[in-house]
Amino acid sequence: MAVRQSPEAVLRDVFGFSSFRGQQREVIDTVVNGSDAFVLMPTGGGKSLCFQIPALVRDGIGIVVSPLISLMKDQVDALNAAGVEAAYLNSSLSADRARAVAREVAADEIKLLYVAPERLMMPEFLDQLRELEISLFAIDEAHCVSQWGHDFRPEYVQLGQIRRHFPGIPVIALTATADEQTRKDVQNRLGLNDARVFIAGFDRPNIRYLVEPKTSNPFGQLKAFLDGVGDESSIVYCLSRKRVETVAEKLRDGGFDAAAYHAGMASADRSRVQEKFLRDDLKIVVATVAFGMGIDKPNVRAVAHYDMPKNLEGYYQETGRAGRDGLPSQAMLLFGMSDVVFARKLINEMENAAQRQIESHKLDAMVGFAEAITCRRRVLLGYFGEDLGRDCGNCDVCLKPRETYDATEDAYRALMCVYQLGQKFGMQHTIDVLRGADTTRIRQFRHQNVEMYGKGASQSLDHWLSVFRQLVHLGYLRQDIADFSSLKLTPLTKKVVRREETVMLTKPMPKEPKSKRERRGARPAGFTEEPLFQILRAVRKGLADAQEVPPFVIFSDATLLDMANKKPATPDEMLAVSGVGYHKLVKYGTPFLAAIQSAGTPA
Ligand code: ADP
Ligand code: ZN
Repeated sequence: MAVRQSPEAVLRDVFGFSSFRGQQREVIDTVVNGSDAFVLMPTGGGKSLCFQIPALVRDGIGIVVSPLISLMKDQVDALNAAGVEAAYLNSSLSADRARAVAREVAADEIKLLYVAPERLMMPEFLDQLRELEISLFAIDEAHCVSQWGHDFRPEYVQLGQIRRHFPGIPVIALTATADEQTRKDVQNRLGLNDARVFIAGFDRPNIRYLVEPKTSNPFGQLKAFLDGVGDESSIVYCLSRKRVETVAEKLRDGGFDAAAYHAGMASADRSRVQEKFLRDDLKIVVATVAFGMGIDKPNVRAVAHYDMPKNLEGYYQETGRAGRDGLPSQAMLLFGMSDVVFARKLINEMENAAQRQIESHKLDAMVGFAEAITCRRRVLLGYFGEDLGRDCGNCDVCLKPRETYDATEDAYRALMCVYQLGQKFGMQHTIDVLRGADTTRIRQFRHQNVEMYGKGASQSLDHWLSVFRQLVHLGYLRQDIADFSSLKLTPLTKKVVRREETVMLTKPMPKEPKSKRERRGARPAGFTEEPLFQILRAVRKGLADAQEVPPFVIFSDATLLDMANKKPATPDEMLAVSGVGYHKLVKYGTPFLAAIQSAGTPA
């Protein structure tokens, strides 16, 4: 029997980390001692080590079930790079390669085997496993077993039998899905009712949440945001394929390295985009929500929503693709009232009344988040049942508390204008009238003759959009979906037009500082501009390309950043860098040490 290494020793020597994070230690001890564990941790929380370390500490082979074929290879490559004997079996392997893996498994040469769920449950495969010493079963993305969840996979259902087939062998299930109903269901279906449950908070403190009301030039807003992100990996989500195509094209025209990704594209084209993005050969993917499922890229620095997602569940999952490596990242939502109107329209067209109600409730929560004037993170976590207990200091509301102003006169004019237009027109036309525009429509309806015509000419279009949006939100106006989104007065209107009530509104978001230096100061992802980091990144890219793996398989951004800070000069110093273990030191240490040395030598 092999001499057992302690979990700490494996953490340090194999993975190159100095301490466990959060509940990793407790989870690992539980599994090492042979008990079942059920682990809920947010994305980037460090779930992988929770089963990888026990598999290395215990005797036998660890079986890891993972739903996404595309992820298995990257994970196995990353383990191999750290010197761990890992392999995978799925339908992407040639018959020859699959046989070779089976031989290695039978010869006890593999410590961690990744398999697709349908493969694991094949009777012959189960028989084969019974011949082996198994250290543990890990079920990654365990929420896929539940129909309540958002990613139900029929091939996961049979995994419920594992617990019965292999009594005495620990099973660890892991997921990032927050909601309680799904969690209970997953536990039941996997037969993990006696498992120790570990629930970490769902906060992603390294993600900065930003919301901007859509102005009349949303593309300009997106560009300004991406400019601030710099030369880093970003995802831009749009709701329709057509929007994806146009935004991607406009970004390319504007000099950005961007490509489109949506379900209407040929699958070869989609794979190519995904692969380039993983390899850092493409900076920006503009995509529908279909993009991201098979992506485990840790160094996505920004996620932008060009359109409002349908609910907070989707929003949280999509923004969660930023900053898996724990480094500062940003999520920006462009929030437009027309998106809300459109989403409501779709919901109202749903046949099923119960469904309509649920979707409508979820949409309200989404809008509530976008219009929040209190800490966004509190609103977000509160929705998932978690109380942060303080303001986060890392969202747009915390960073730039919104000022309110006395908008009684603006509100008066806006409401009077709606009244004088007979409550038959939408926001855009009403604002045109207020601003004294000369449009065909105004001429057609002779709206130059309306008393409020031109009474708001001194204010910008965006100012009025903000006023109207807030009046709707506060209930002074409503948009009638059944009548082409025309504006209607409400019972609250009366007091304002009789000038019996003061209306306080929040000022539109202050404009970003214009000078380059100020902009850089406001940029949380600024570390990536450090020259040595850039040099190390180029070294990593060269090694990754030579080995045909994504760069993060070699070292994470967090590791390169630590290296750039510590500037190790010897192999021993290199070992002190977070994420550098013995194997990686031997394999990759030299080129990085050389790069650091020559960067430090004045030319
Ligand atoms: P998850 O699967 O929960 O999304 P991962 O297991 O991919 O998260 O871990 C996220 C990142 O955190 C990875 O880059 C990983 O190397 C790093 N990490 C995990 N545990 C530690 C630790 N104890 N110390 C330092 N970095 C860690
Ligand atoms: Zn906040």
